[in-house]
Amino acid sequence: MPTHMELVLQAAAFAAEKHRNGRRKDVDASPYINHPIQLAYILVQANIEDPVVLAAALLHDTIEDTNTTHDEIEIVFGHEIANIVAECSDDKRLSKLERKQAQVDHAGKISMKAKLVKLADKIANVSDIDGAPPAGWSVERKREYFDWAKKVVDQMRGTHEILEARFDAEYAKRP
Ligand code: NDP
Ligand code: ZN
Repeated sequence: MPTHMELVLQAAAFAAEKHRNGRRKDVDASPYINHPIQLAYILVQANIEDPVVLAAALLHDTIEDTNTTHDEIEIVFGHEIANIVAECSDDKRLSKLERKQAQVDHAGKISMKAKLVKLADKIANVSDIDGAPPAGWSVERKREYFDWAKKVVDQMRGTHEILEARFDAEYAKRP
């Protein structure tokens, strides 16, 4: 059985390798891995130190954005972490509009640990849109994103007071 620290760092290394060619959408095209690391940092700042949640946060975009499969994560990290990552992944067979709606519909029904990861994801993304937004986004598009993120977060109210308060503080910066 790996130690807690070992599990979290193994997830960081696995995600870094999977996202090695990935870039965020900001003007500087930041390395993608900065984002999952940011989620883990947000969770620890909210006193969440469950290694399963932190590892899942580090891995949360590997299925959605890289060639990683659920089975692969399950083999390396076990079924609990693989299931959390799957719960945080959009169904790529749906259109972008359907995926946005599906997040609103599903956020309230996922596991507690997946909700923590999803809350951190929305905090990180609205924070990025405020500080390092996707290149070319209009004020209108930023507002739409903030409002959609809030709709998703509103389905998860009562999950974690500190994370929800942090989201609300980020939402207050809505352009
Ligand atoms: P998204 O709105 O999904 O892009 C945001 C996503 O990109 C985030 O959720 C985040 O996801 C990731 N991301 C990467 N870099 C950044 C960053 N620097 N800051 C914040 N997020 C970042 O874009 P899509 O192109 O997929 O469009 C989705 C929807 O937007 C569609 O429904 C479309 O109809 C609509 N749209 C609206 C327009 C408008 O002007 N209002 C124009 C075009 C489309 P993750 O955490 O997974 O990395
Ligand atoms: Zn993400």
